[in-house]
Amino acid sequence: MLIVMDHSATDQQIAAVKKAIEAMGLRAEPIPGSLRTAIGVLGNQGYVDDTSIRELPGVRETIHVSKPYKMVSRDFHPVSTVVRVGDIAIGDGHPPVMIAGPCSIETEEQMLAAAQLVKAAGAHILRGGAFKPRTGPHSFQGLGVDGLKYLRQAGDAAGLPVITEVMRIEQLEPVCRYADVLQIGARNMQNFDLLKEVGKLTCPVLLKRGMSATLEEFLAAAEYIVAEGNDQVILCERGIRTFERATRNTLDLSVIPLIREMSHLPIIVDPSHATGKRSLVPVMAKAALVAGAHGLMIEVHPEPEKALCDGAQSLNGPGFGQLMEEIRRLQQYLDA
Ligand code: PEP
Ligand code: MN
Repeated sequence: MLIVMDHSATDQQIAAVKKAIEAMGLRAEPIPGSLRTAIGVLGNQGYVDDTSIRELPGVRETIHVSKPYKMVSRDFHPVSTVVRVGDIAIGDGHPPVMIAGPCSIETEEQMLAAAQLVKAAGAHILRGGAFKPRTGPHSFQGLGVDGLKYLRQAGDAAGLPVITEVMRIEQLEPVCRYADVLQIGARNMQNFDLLKEVGKLTCPVLLKRGMSATLEEFLAAAEYIVAEGNDQVILCERGIRTFERATRNTLDLSVIPLIREMSHLPIIVDPSHATGKRSLVPVMAKAALVAGAHGLMIEVHPEPEKALCDGAQSLNGPGFGQLMEEIRRLQQYLDA
């Protein structure tokens, strides 16, 4: 529920409303606006009987919000959240963050080579999967903790923070030990227990959209993390399942401006998993930036033809270097 105060409401009246909400066992979050203050009510399981609140002095109206998310919405939190990874800032008012690296961590040498080439091209964060959610059990499942070590080592050698996927609560301990950003993959977007656990941490989380998740379900998943206290959440559109099989998924570019309207969280795009085709990655990467994405996650492999996972959608070093150059030129135009 949202309580809208009169524009002439005094600080005492706002405090009295806050107290009344808290007396009902709920949380109150004042949202000061340029014309009037609103108060967000949090913690209710269902409909809140607002009779007594509506009668309090200074209250203009109460609005029942039926959406399954509040804390991630702009209505409750108009100021854009900027996620910090060391000295990298992700969100409104900051240059797009570039996350790049292979789908999977394969060997120490592969990771060191990948880190050097993405760093040389200007990437900000190194990616690599150690725990891989593969469609079939016979595919390469990732190197586990050994992989995490190679990722960290490669990131440190190149001076890049690192991101990697966590699939289960039991993996949080090792992953947090080695990674700067946790990735929750599309298949785990609705692993609610995992979402709650990462919500209790302070490190940044990249939450990927489930392959058949609606925008409302995507934001509700992010709400699980933010509701536990961790607001360092980056959303990631990575394509959704449609009837179209010419691409691996269908990149839903329209969610970028929509999420920017509806939520204060930053939104980035992964054109690699969205298209599944190397030739489509650069153009869709640039399209995502034009649509307002706060960054990109791109799969880059030193030798894509030898990759154990997702080689067909991975750029090689020169390909990524060229894309970064094109993005720099595009950015000058977008900033102008
Ligand atoms: C990945 O980024 O490695 C990955 C598995 O992506 P998604 O969860 O979007 O399929
Ligand atoms: Mn992949």
